[in-house]
Amino acid sequence: MPVQCPYCGDSESKVIDSRSVGDGIRRRRQCLSCGTRFTTYERLQSKNLFVIKKDSRREEFNRDKLLGGIRKACEKRPLPTGTIDKLVDNIETELYRLGKGEIPSSSIGDMVIERLEELDHIAYIRFASVYREFTDITALKEAVDTLVDTNTEAPPPGQLPLLSQEELVHLGQRRRRQK
Ligand SMILES: [Zn+2]
Repeated sequence: MPVQCPYCGDSESKVIDSRSVGDGIRRRRQCLSCGTRFTTYERLQSKNLFVIKKDSRREEFNRDKLLGGIRKACEKRPLPTGTIDKLVDNIETELYRLGKGEIPSSSIGDMVIERLEELDHIAYIRFASVYREFTDITALKEAVDTLVDTNTEAPPPGQLPLLSQEELVHLGQRRRRQK
């Protein structure tokens, strides 16, 4: 069965790495046409992974969809190349390792949130704001405040500051105005 490159649609790819995960095989491939790397899983049909959505509908797990959501949250963040792919690989491997046929979308969301919180706070807030559906600015502010509280002056090594100096000054001005 030819595997199509998800980016250019070409069906010529070479396998650069393969390993067994759970009862399937994960293959890392590189498109011979555009050079993009992507991952495929070979699994028994009955063991496909389905995502249970909030409205109880089931949808086959889609790596690209997950990747797209995380990419969007990480847009313009200064993350090293390959960071997002690695994060998605990591989540995907864990999902298949669980060996379940179905998994609630909320569990996947939690896995993403957990990892983004360690990786980049802006991406974390962006992702959480979509995923947790902050309905109003108060809920969003509470989430930010929690982050600020748990992260005192100095961010942990490798962690980018939550807000730029400019944003902090701006926030201070707004707070003063509110009083
Ligand atoms: Zn391609």
